[in-house]
Amino acid sequence: MKYENLKEKRGILIGRMQPLHNGHIQVIKDAFKEVDELIIGIGSAQISHTIENPFTAGERILMIKKTLTEHGIKGDKHYIIPITDIMNNSVWVSHVEMLTPYFNKVFSGNSLVQRLFTEAGYKINEHIPFNRRILSGTKIRDLMINDGKWEDLVSKSTVEIIRKINGIERLKHISLKE
Ligand code: NAD
Repeated sequence: MKYENLKEKRGILIGRMQPLHNGHIQVIKDAFKEVDELIIGIGSAQISHTIENPFTAGERILMIKKTLTEHGIKGDKHYIIPITDIMNNSVWVSHVEMLTPYFNKVFSGNSLVQRLFTEAGYKINEHIPFNRRILSGTKIRDLMINDGKWEDLVSKSTVEIIRKINGIERLKHISLKE
């Protein structure tokens, strides 16, 4: 396994976090039980202002940074790195490696991400799904568009950021049919 014998234990979790929700936070907390440092890769960093990806990479950085502080996770223990998508899945792991400090554990519940890192020689830690029926970006964005109760599914910091940027108005507007 890649970098298996290194003393440092550094993991990576890549996700679109559209938005960061309590399921992601639980995965991050569990990951910290196994590693000293965690890289949080913001996937599809180039995409924003769509129904599936309403928030910019910068907005997602703020959600993650402020939420981790809210949960008592110190800033010197994690790296938040935007990762743009590329057209070639077969070289995506090299693209990720180019953008991040080296790591020796990969946390993912996404089967494509698991497959690509496994083929590149990494050990995968699959995480347990936490209330996946409700704690899902798709479900939360749907609640936001339809005036449902989404606030309890994300951190206080994320609620504040989404309100500050008029995120609900943005999402509702881009979801309008012509
Ligand atoms: P996501 O935000 O949906 O999920 C991030 C992680 O959190 C996943 O591992 C997921 O399993 C976990 N998670 C989410 N909700 C959970 C819950 N309730 N309980 C437990 N775990 C939960 O992000 P994603 O779509 O998986 O992100 C993958 C990113 O990798 C995307 O941006 C994708 O475009 C990118 N990618 C790019 C390429 C390429 O550019 N060629 C290839 C592969 C992947």
